[in-house]
Amino acid sequence: MDSAPDARARVNLLGLPTPELQALVESLGSKPFRARQLMSWLYKRGVASFDEMTDLARDFRAQLATLAEVKLPEIVLAQQSLDGTRKWLLRADASQAFEMVFIPEPGRGTLCISSQVGCVLDCSFCSTARQGFNRNLTTAEIVGQVWLANRELGFEAGGERLVTNVVFMGMGEPLANFRNVVPATQILLDDLGFDFSRRRVTLSTSGLVPQIYKLAQVCNVALAVSLHAPEDELRNQLVPINRLHPISELLDACWHYIDEQNGRSVTFEYVMLDGVNDSPAQARALARLLAGRPAKVNMIPFNPFPGTQYRRSSDDAIWRFRDELLGRNVMATVRRTRGEDIDAACGQLVGRVQNRTVARLGERVRTGSGAAA
Ligand code: SAH
Repeated sequence: MDSAPDARARVNLLGLPTPELQALVESLGSKPFRARQLMSWLYKRGVASFDEMTDLARDFRAQLATLAEVKLPEIVLAQQSLDGTRKWLLRADASQAFEMVFIPEPGRGTLCISSQVGCVLDCSFCSTARQGFNRNLTTAEIVGQVWLANRELGFEAGGERLVTNVVFMGMGEPLANFRNVVPATQILLDDLGFDFSRRRVTLSTSGLVPQIYKLAQVCNVALAVSLHAPEDELRNQLVPINRLHPISELLDACWHYIDEQNGRSVTFEYVMLDGVNDSPAQARALARLLAGRPAKVNMIPFNPFPGTQYRRSSDDAIWRFRDELLGRNVMATVRRTRGEDIDAACGQLVGRVQNRTVARLGERVRTGSGAAA
């Protein structure tokens, strides 16, 4: 379709906010409920071709095809792990690609989606950070991941959901791509869209404090925060954005989010790095920050990648750390590592990124605009 002369001018219906879709439909002289029908075909039934949308009048479909399209990211490579985890490499541009991962578990299936091609944040233990940053994903590219996963997994309209949970834990910092991520979460939650319950969509952030406050006003997905250290000196090294937004400010933003959203709790991710952040004393310091708060800790055994200076904590250290937290009434779980044989585990997603970043922790992160979209 790209080669069609008017293809550039067409609106991509995928990811289009509901009011804009309604306006488009009305501009064609059609009734607003046509927009609902279109969304149902698109998101509930996974149909991308206007020809197959058989309850829409032929004329309307023809009109639609002249000015709109449904454009999905293209799959470059699909891989499957021995444990059933699946990973797809998706094309962003001729030389750029990003990844998404599906993790099946008994009774649920989690899709881990990307929000950017690369990342500007430079967390020292993350392989995505190594590559630098290229661009923000569009809303269509973000919701397109869920659409494609449904198709790839063989989801049928009206059938059992295969993707039961969506987590923004793939490549990129979702709150640095606020402009496109928020509309994407709305389509995920919209009952005319994918219709996920708010507890089943989780946005994970490294801690962009001003954007957490903004998010609290416009969105009510579950919040996960990459804490990784109980004190600022260490967190400055592991998650350098901490130099701009230290732990106390970050935690205040989290409690505000929960208050505003009537949420249950914030999940604090904590990567377990041998000899760095995994001592019992550090667990106790973490418990002091979180005890009595609407918080739970999700410990992530470090996933190594070539050239890293870090090692995964021993199992003993991991269980001891968890017990210290539980003993202080802080909920703690250990994330099972999945998909390691295809480099699909947390922090291993690399896609294909041509770095365009000059200043890594510069103004762009501070303002939350990411880099040029
Ligand atoms: N930018 C978002 C999403 C990142 S990925 C954020 O920072 O939250 C999701 C989680 O994987 C984050 O908690 C991240 O810190 C963690 N992670 C990154 N690299 C990792 C690695 N090598 N091993 C284990 N977890 C890692």
